[in-house]
Amino acid sequence: MTATPSPRPPPARGGGAPISSASLTRRTILAVLAAPAIARAQPAPRVIVVGGGFAGATAARFLRRLNPNIDVLLIEPNAIFTACPFSNEVIAGLRDIDAQRFIYDGLVADRIRVMQAAVTAIDPTQRSVAFGSNRLLYDRLILAPGIDIVWDALPGYDEAAANRIPHAWKAGEQTILLQRQLEAMPDGGVVVMSSPPNPYRCPPGPYERASLIAWYLKTHKPRSKLILLDAKDAFSKQKLFQEAWQQLYPGLLEWVSLSDGGKVTRIDPATNTFETDFGSHKADVANVIPPQRAGAIATAAGVADRTGWCPIDPVTFESKLQPNIHVIGDAAIAGAMPKSAFAANAQAKVCAEAVATLLAGDTPQEPKLINTCYSLAAPGHGFSVAGVYHPTGGQLTEIEGSGGTSPLDASSEQRALEAKYAEAWFKTIANETFG
Ligand SMILES: Cc1cc2nc3c(=O)[nH]c(=O)nc-3n(C[C@H](O)[C@H](O)[C@H](O)COP(=O)(O)OP(=O)(O)OC[C@H]3O[C@@H](n4cnc5c(N)ncnc54)[C@H](O)[C@@H]3O)c2cc1C
Repeated sequence: MTATPSPRPPPARGGGAPISSASLTRRTILAVLAAPAIARAQPAPRVIVVGGGFAGATAARFLRRLNPNIDVLLIEPNAIFTACPFSNEVIAGLRDIDAQRFIYDGLVADRIRVMQAAVTAIDPTQRSVAFGSNRLLYDRLILAPGIDIVWDALPGYDEAAANRIPHAWKAGEQTILLQRQLEAMPDGGVVVMSSPPNPYRCPPGPYERASLIAWYLKTHKPRSKLILLDAKDAFSKQKLFQEAWQQLYPGLLEWVSLSDGGKVTRIDPATNTFETDFGSHKADVANVIPPQRAGAIATAAGVADRTGWCPIDPVTFESKLQPNIHVIGDAAIAGAMPKSAFAANAQAKVCAEAVATLLAGDTPQEPKLINTCYSLAAPGHGFSVAGVYHPTGGQLTEIEGSGGTSPLDASSEQRALEAKYAEAWFKTIANETFG
């Protein structure tokens, strides 16, 4: 970025790029267009939030509520956010993709300026973000870009291959592609999935997906089979999943651990083949969940380390690599906290509080954060893992004895209740974030 900072940088084109989606109301568009020109000289401190997912949108909302005098600007490229939680249900034909879609009217009603753009550069020294030829200054930046796929991690699997073999690890077109491929597969077909090494978005997600695909096959194509190749020997809620698989999908779902040859070394997209050190698996429908890292803008901002993820201070979520930039959600290295929407929401609230406190010249207090991850092994068959986390030794650790998982051998009534809790949780978080 070559432009030098000015006390009054030009506003974004059109005062915030036009939001073209027909789903957005006139009120949204007017509110964005009516946003005042942006200038560092304003007395109100300015916080720019990059990324309007579970982490960023929640942080923007809570910051605005904590101190209405803070000038909060949310920058997000998409007019419509498509949520990942419950997208495995879409793949299994249990839910419409429209139920996953959310717009930003609720934030605009809260008087948050929502700008539709992709941030292309961040200059931590000048404290500016750039998108195209536009540039805006901030006092503090909250970065919540989620994940990107590491395209060169798995030989043979690149962006072009993903058009044929979906990852469906960012919800939207990829989710629909996988659902349609399953629908088109003849009975008796073989579905092959691969799960990556840690860390990655939603640790129990691949196993929930395998379960719900197995449910779909059992219900609609009972002569079919699912093989789940894993780069790990252990996974989240493993005993609960394996108990459910034994009960619900015997002979249909096969999990291949790392030790048993589950690590995929190459993908051949032309033949839908997964290669491992122990042999190869040809799929009628293939789903690769590839290795991931923080959204690319984190690397561009200099807040991602060699792991591809972003080290943060566990009290304020401020980057350990760049001052005045806070990183939350999947992009952050949040110690023992998993990369989940629940965690992203909790981190967003803690970060908003810390940013408001720091801008007031005070010292943020040590937080406690909660996470609960629900999974469905079949419709009406839910279970969960929960934990409470606090900062210790510069990292977020789980408080001993604070959490745990649902019991093994629970009754079908208990599993049905947990499936209901899962749905209630999603409704609540979606409403808190976008409603
Ligand atoms: C199949 C599946 C099932 C899941 N189920 C659950 C579940 O049941 N419970 C749960 O808690 N979690 C679940 N998750 C995990 C959850 O989806 C993520 O943890 C959560 O979305 C993380 O929130 P985030 O805000 O960090 O990232 P995201 O929600 O991905 O949001 C990131 C946003 O940043 C924007 N962005 C990226 N780059 C830029 C840029 N340069 N400029 C501006 N904006 C940018 C993106 O457009 C995006 O809107 C699931 C995930 C998957 C894949």
